[in-house]
Amino acid sequence: MKQRLLFLGPPGAGKGTQAQLLAAREGLLHLSTGDLLRAEVQAGSPLGQEAQAVMARGELVSDALVLAIVRGRLEQHQGGWLLDGFPRNLPQAEALDALLAELDQRIEQVLLMELDAAVLIQRLLSRGRADDTEDVIRHRLVVYQEQTAPLIQHYEAQGLLTRIEASGSIETIAERLAAVVVD
Ligand code: AMP
Repeated sequence: MKQRLLFLGPPGAGKGTQAQLLAAREGLLHLSTGDLLRAEVQAGSPLGQEAQAVMARGELVSDALVLAIVRGRLEQHQGGWLLDGFPRNLPQAEALDALLAELDQRIEQVLLMELDAAVLIQRLLSRGRADDTEDVIRHRLVVYQEQTAPLIQHYEAQGLLTRIEASGSIETIAERLAAVVVD
């Protein structure tokens, strides 16, 4: 089983759910920048206060801020990890490559969760998170297309990308993932 994984895909594709399941099963660190940012917002920390309005609009918080979070976690952690929601744009992907080179680590596989836009919107609307109103959802999908989707090409060129059909039940998708992350 691969030990250093990255989940890529649009909001609503089920990255968080699947990343959590897989990380728990394999004993990997699940590093979700969205979860960590929401925890900062909840705690009312200076970092959370800076991120809150940006997140509510469905835009990306600054690269420097998320990079500091990811660096702090990866530097402290021994063993495997699964990144979820990071990187979100090319500068973040390049910064991650540099950080991993520093730590003498490398990404072993990128899992791209693919799902039809209409299904994504339905899933997000039923989730009911603070940034899950229809306008914000549409904006998050545009941000994904413009800023995050170019990473597909970036990782495909490195021979790291595996595409996963993200429709069906949680169990079905988990089985599909389990079948492709073996060494
Ligand atoms: P998520 O839970 O991954 O959907 O993230 C929720 C929100 O947190 C996003 O819409 C962004 O505002 C912010 N966010 C999460 N991860 C990142 C990241 N890597 N870069 C910038 N913003 C992020």
